[in-house]
Amino acid sequence: NNIVVAIDGYSSCGKSTLAKALAKKLHFIYVDSGAMYRAVTLYFLRNKIDLHSHDAIMDALKNIHLNFHSRDYQTHITLNDEEVSDEIRLMPVSENVSAVSAIREVRHEMVRQQQRMGKSKNIVMDGRDIGTVVFPHAQVKLFMTADPYVRAERRYKELSPNNPDISLEDVFENLAHRDYQDTTREESPLTRAEDAIILDNTDLTPDEQLQFAIDKITP
Ligand code: C5P
Repeated sequence: NNIVVAIDGYSSCGKSTLAKALAKKLHFIYVDSGAMYRAVTLYFLRNKIDLHSHDAIMDALKNIHLNFHSRDYQTHITLNDEEVSDEIRLMPVSENVSAVSAIREVRHEMVRQQQRMGKSKNIVMDGRDIGTVVFPHAQVKLFMTADPYVRAERRYKELSPNNPDISLEDVFENLAHRDYQDTTREESPLTRAEDAIILDNTDLTPDEQLQFAIDKITP
């Protein structure tokens, strides 16, 4: 049987950094579920989809085709054959993604596609509901947390070279706002699966986190 490693947690906790390192080490496929919600959000913004119209949402979902191209364990995602990996990280998407991902119809469709990806392959998937909803029977579940200021600083360092207008406060606010929306939404809110191992990485290097995860997988 194939193996699924589920990594959930708050925004900018280092989930994708760990997930990529783990996938590389284990020769598993890495799937960034957040990129899928971000790409859907980009489509909704571009096409001004009414978030309150069931019909408009269903129509949009029918017209959205997402594809991952895994090259060197980085996330390369296409939206209807257009490479959108960089654009989905920008503020307009970050500011709207939690509202779009709170929509029931959107979640159902993404979960369906994610479950299909983990059906026959060994994967590491990171997100907010992977261990609770997408793969409740995942063999390994990690739940990541870190100090909110440390998280904002890490994300700021990542974003600022290409986004000179962005401030540390903007990033901090965005993370806090997304965490609030993600934990309080009605449809599969962000929460730790009962059997998930907590990993607080505030004071851990990427290598230490990888070692922690490997130790849990192969005790
Ligand atoms: O992982 P990332 O921060 O890129 O995810 C962006 C947003 O997508 C999250 O803040 C959350 O609103 C949504 N998301 C989700 N469920 C997932 C992954 C992401 O609701 N499994």
